[in-house]
Amino acid sequence: MDKDLSKEDIAKLPFKDSNLDLEKRVENLLGRLTLEEKFKICSGTRLFFTKKIKRLNLPKFKMTDGPHGVGALGTFFIKKTTYFPTAICRTATWNPELSEQFGAAIAQEVRDVGYHMLLAPGINIDRTPLNGRTFEYQTEDPYLNIKMAVPVVKGIQSQRIAACVKHYVCNNQEFSRFKVSAEVSERALQEIYLPGFEAVVREADVWSIMACYNKVNGIFGCENKNLLKERLMEEWGFRGFVVSDWFATRHILKTESCINAGMTLEMPHPIKYKVKRLKEALIAENFTEDSLDENVKRLLRVMFLTGLFNDENTIPPGSRNTAEHQIVARKIAEEGIVLLKNKENLLPLDIEKIKKLAVLGPNADKKMAFGGGSSMIRTLYEITPIQGLKEKCKDKVEIIDIPSEADVAIVFAGLNHKKYGDRENKDKIKLELSYKQIELINKTAQENPKTIVVLINGSPIAMDGWIENVSTIVEAWYAGQEAGNAIADIIFGDINPSGKLPITFPKKLSDSPAHVSKRTYPGNDKVYYDEGILVGYRYFDTKKIDPLFPFGHGLSYTTFTYDNLKIDKKKVLEDDKFTVSVDITNSDDHAGAEVVQLYVQDVECSVDRPLKELKGFKKIKLELGEKKTVIFELEKRDLSFFDEIDNCWKAEKGIFNVLVGSSSKDILLKAEIEYLG
Ligand code: BGC
Repeated sequence: MDKDLSKEDIAKLPFKDSNLDLEKRVENLLGRLTLEEKFKICSGTRLFFTKKIKRLNLPKFKMTDGPHGVGALGTFFIKKTTYFPTAICRTATWNPELSEQFGAAIAQEVRDVGYHMLLAPGINIDRTPLNGRTFEYQTEDPYLNIKMAVPVVKGIQSQRIAACVKHYVCNNQEFSRFKVSAEVSERALQEIYLPGFEAVVREADVWSIMACYNKVNGIFGCENKNLLKERLMEEWGFRGFVVSDWFATRHILKTESCINAGMTLEMPHPIKYKVKRLKEALIAENFTEDSLDENVKRLLRVMFLTGLFNDENTIPPGSRNTAEHQIVARKIAEEGIVLLKNKENLLPLDIEKIKKLAVLGPNADKKMAFGGGSSMIRTLYEITPIQGLKEKCKDKVEIIDIPSEADVAIVFAGLNHKKYGDRENKDKIKLELSYKQIELINKTAQENPKTIVVLINGSPIAMDGWIENVSTIVEAWYAGQEAGNAIADIIFGDINPSGKLPITFPKKLSDSPAHVSKRTYPGNDKVYYDEGILVGYRYFDTKKIDPLFPFGHGLSYTTFTYDNLKIDKKKVLEDDKFTVSVDITNSDDHAGAEVVQLYVQDVECSVDRPLKELKGFKKIKLELGEKKTVIFELEKRDLSFFDEIDNCWKAEKGIFNVLVGSSSKDILLKAEIEYLG
């Protein structure tokens, strides 16, 4: 073993040679670590770091939250960073390219604060609209989840910053998150909860996965051999390392169950991985040094990939709070804001025609960056809605607070990250706005029939008792530090809204699949996923329950016409790919973007299937009168379901409908194919 090496000696060791093959560097470094050092490197210190190994001059590996900006906690509140729109807003853009740009931008900020891994993206499926972290997650739909998560990971890792996708898996509620067991069928795991995680491994080679707090079918995420070792590593080929969620190991009984499951790093400090416990378990032969080595190797590999042992000038440089990052934040906000209702075409407002605008509501001037739990951000600036409107209206429109004296009134309602709001470690207790807000909306609408409600929140809102009184509703989410500017641009038509809901808005909580009984939510020790694969619109559609606003819904200031749906094959064989094409025309008077959505429906099947499932989407920009042909390519997998009896994906022979439209409810064209197998 190397003893008393000088820094100069260390610099000459093979693992320091960046020209050497990655696996050789990993082997070389692993071979130099003592058993004690291997133990030491497997748990954290000071909340977000691994421990240094002084003898070999190995620095700390540093991690920070995520998901929508470099988190304040990780940087100990010292560094100011860009506050990007939260994940649900980013997903509402249905624009994977923006996701990739976001990934690269946020990673540059991670590098700039001197860290190596971003604890993001969070891709748990939105099972219940009450989940306090819905704003941090992407969607209720596994296909959209994949399409928006893979580019984020690619973007982050393009900067040699590790992405850490969380929380693997079924961390779908905050209530009792440290203990509850998600009782979920294999089919629901395969069709709904796992696909996002599988895709970031297979398609984006993600370098880290965070194991969840909760149990899955009775076994905690951090000791779940089936989820970690068997699926993630052996089946999907994950080459990165697994980190525990912070303090997630505290209710686990045995050290060796985490080691043997393949959990490398225990955060934020040793509990199960205390050196003494590790030693005892090794001596008792409860795990082997080979298993430990395998776990350590995974962490070392990622350390090399992020350039931890390289000269700084060989790795991509960092940057923070740049104009480019601010533009990315603004574009996501512009494309993620969803026009829910515009019945009398009140929007967009004409800045030349309006003299007075009344702006009211608790969220008109509320800053949102610094809240919500681990995702809180200390941002350089945050443009609130009223600031954005004032800037836009400067010298043209007077902003007042008396609705009856205004041409138009806007109420900024919704939630925040505090009590009963969108936040970590607590679920919401209801879907409705507060009584006070409902009263404000109704009073404003009474005083001024031209009242617009803009919602600032990160999860579905039920609107009974006020929706019928307003013609116009905008869902603006927590849209990052440029929110105010983006909202003003949408209100005055400088930007034509193109966001679409990544989650169903139910009329009432009891309409939601997770809320049919106490056992399905919140559960006690166990929460039963009795709805199986019928999550989100899959449930509403199949059970014929009308949502308030369906998955995929979002209006525009223009009209898009869909026609000429064609499929290149009428009959499809097992190995065939088939192409679906459709013409979209912008037939009204604004340039705009449309998210064309493709759903597949299995007409007859031996098992229950959802009425339809999203299997393709494209966001296209169209000038006035412009027409474009959108093309989708599909294959057997898009027709398949997970068969629990034979434990594999299957497509059954027969007729499938291909449905194309502008939301899950607004299906405009239909064609069929016959699958011959
Ligand atoms: C959260 C994680 C977060 C970690 C570190 C945990 O409480 O569940 O999402 O990354 O803390 O802040």
